[in-house]
Amino acid sequence: MQKKYLMTPGPTPVPAEVLLTQAAPIIHHRTPEFSAAFKACIEGLKYVFQTEGDVLLFASSGTGVMEAAIANSFCAGDMAIVCRNGKFGDRMKGLCEAYGVGVLDLKYEWTSVVDPADVARTLKDNPGVRGVIVTQSETSSGVLNDVEAIGAIVAGYPDCVLIVDSITGIGAVPCKTDEWGLDVVMTGSQKGLMLPPGLAATTVSAKAWRAYERSTLPKYYFDWMKYKKNVEKDTTPFTPAVSLVLGLNVSLGMIRDEGLDNVIARHSRLAEATRRGCEALGMKLFAPPEGRGSAVTPVWVPDGIDGKQIVKIMKNKYGVTIAGGQDAYEGRIFRVGHLGYFGEFDIITTLAALEMTLAELGYAFERGAGIVAAESVFMGE
Ligand SMILES: *Cc1c(COP(=O)(O)O)cnc(C)c1O
Repeated sequence: MQKKYLMTPGPTPVPAEVLLTQAAPIIHHRTPEFSAAFKACIEGLKYVFQTEGDVLLFASSGTGVMEAAIANSFCAGDMAIVCRNGKFGDRMKGLCEAYGVGVLDLKYEWTSVVDPADVARTLKDNPGVRGVIVTQSETSSGVLNDVEAIGAIVAGYPDCVLIVDSITGIGAVPCKTDEWGLDVVMTGSQKGLMLPPGLAATTVSAKAWRAYERSTLPKYYFDWMKYKKNVEKDTTPFTPAVSLVLGLNVSLGMIRDEGLDNVIARHSRLAEATRRGCEALGMKLFAPPEGRGSAVTPVWVPDGIDGKQIVKIMKNKYGVTIAGGQDAYEGRIFRVGHLGYFGEFDIITTLAALEMTLAELGYAFERGAGIVAAESVFMGE
């Protein structure tokens, strides 16, 4: 027997009470029991998104709501600014291209933060831009983009919507949908919501509904309006992922019980301990200090060490699954996820497995230094 630890930024671990709820016999979705749970989920999602506006829930992975954001907001030939500094920003660009939306490409290094001044300038230079698209928490790089500052800029353009991929932002970092003027904010179940994969949610502001009214891009399953009309009746247009919705009701209850601010503070503490732990082992953090999120900690693999080996040994020998680097950073960075159902000792365990793995690979460092650094964060030293 080997105890397993899932330390990736999606899928993330699921609490036992959520799993048990999902194991109950299936109920029909056109029933008062399901409607009550569904209604509570929409209310709970409004709480985590911090919005009084519409929240729509889909049976899909996160990419489904990203596609929905494009299909429901634009017409073919519209121009949108895509801010991208990682794999998920690239995906938004690909989605725009698939739908014939013109891309004003704000491309950055994966180790850089999106500069809101670039968004302001591009909006000014290109009258008629219909959307700004940004990833709040770039899971591929750990970079946190300043969507509050971008929201303040886009608010000055009444015909331009701000679309935010907060799929690993929600529940990990502050994301104040209404207060910051974010028109479309998205998340997925297998991230901060502590559920298995299979659900995705989106907010839609009044401004985004105006964009929807004008939009002529094709849509059917992901047509926002179908979901809105059904949410008003506490149901869904198509068969929902019943068990996941019942589980979501439980996980949202856990978030409410802890309190969103406390959830975010816990993530920030876990991220800080992971960072300090890795730095104490002599490794360098990938994301820049001015823009680090709390969902995932990417770390440069030390010179002369094979990053893929780190991931492999940690998983096979110690049962600790972390993520490797993606695209150009495959083998060059590793990523420790701490998003959702995580506590202090998950971090201690991971740092211990990391130390044992690095020692085996012949990396020179002071044994125990990573754990001590993390303990100091948790002890408030
Ligand atoms: C996980 C994730 C997504 C969605 O990916 P799916 O595999 O479709 O669920 C989108 N954006 C970010 C930033 C993510 O971390």
